[in-house]
Amino acid sequence: MIPISLYIHIPWCTKKCPFCDFNSYTIKTKIEEKKYIDLLIQDLKQELPLIKNRKIHSIFIGGGTPSLFTINNLKKLIKKIKTILLINYKIEITIESYPSEKEKKKILQYQKIGINRISLGIQTFNNKYIKKLNRNYLEKDIIQLLNTFKNKKKIYNFNIDIMHSLPDQSIQEAILDLKKAISFQPTHISWYELTIEPNTPFYYKKLNILSEKNKLKIIRQGNKILKKNGYIQYEISSYCKKKYQCKHNVNYWNFGDYIGIGCGAHGKITDKINNSIIRTIKHKHIRDYINDNFLQKKYVLDTKEIILEFFMNKLRLKRPLLKKDLYNFTGINKKFIQKNISKCIQKGYLTEDNKYWKITKKGELFLNSLLEIFC
Ligand code: SF4
Repeated sequence: MIPISLYIHIPWCTKKCPFCDFNSYTIKTKIEEKKYIDLLIQDLKQELPLIKNRKIHSIFIGGGTPSLFTINNLKKLIKKIKTILLINYKIEITIESYPSEKEKKKILQYQKIGINRISLGIQTFNNKYIKKLNRNYLEKDIIQLLNTFKNKKKIYNFNIDIMHSLPDQSIQEAILDLKKAISFQPTHISWYELTIEPNTPFYYKKLNILSEKNKLKIIRQGNKILKKNGYIQYEISSYCKKKYQCKHNVNYWNFGDYIGIGCGAHGKITDKINNSIIRTIKHKHIRDYINDNFLQKKYVLDTKEIILEFFMNKLRLKRPLLKKDLYNFTGINKKFIQKNISKCIQKGYLTEDNKYWKITKKGELFLNSLLEIFC
């Protein structure tokens, strides 16, 4: 059985960051948390025929800034979900959180309501760049927040998001951010390059972007430091202490299934009976989400889309790709893609043996060109 997770989208933020293309809106009036939770539950109930009695392995409450919701309302949400879905007893429940004064008071309470993983969107410790990214805190606030985890006997399972290659950032500044994150010994670090997404304020601004050579220097130095400090790189930008991979994200990259509820959430469900993969997309805007009964689009992926998505996800993971997974996860026989695979091997992007396909260093560097072969 293909593993299945639940993604919950809460789209509000206190401010919009200029690099962000997520489905998020600045709060204008008080969020009607209870009303939104009721909508999420109705949305989830509508998904039930698709998922039948499958057990959920992970829940990810993302956004936006879901930690803006009160502990009581988050508790109600989780409680209700547990009455509707079958839940694996070792479930991972993550919430995305934003460093703030309010968060400091709440951060240790998550554990009590069943949330066992916290993902902190820190991005940078440097006040100069915090300002450029239009974030609402200072370095001292982050330090205070992270210190809440320190001196506790319990190990808190938490991730720190750090971006590098910010406009004008020097190599030293990027590495210092990473070192500061490591000093708090999070179980997981997502360390990734800033990408300038179309239709964001950064896209229309003249920015001093780092050269490819300097970006590569940052990545090489950072990877060495992470390794030296016991962090295992298991995906392009994900690093963790042993046994602390993010189960939820690994399920995406493994081409597992997921239900997506909330504004703009996407879902992917395998229908083994009809041998098809269904994609669901919820309305992005709260008004349409309410007025049009949540769902914006639901369709069956065609073979080309399935193959492309399968490789796009699986090749992100730093491990060989089991050939029989192609059939197990998609119902497609490997003979069907043999020509494309041969082309990848000929170009030096992949190698193969009886059991596995393995991405080469060249393949990692030219991942887009590799994937184009499957388009
Ligand atoms: S806090 Fe996160 S979701 Fe909200 S605007 Fe910033 S990056 Fe986007």
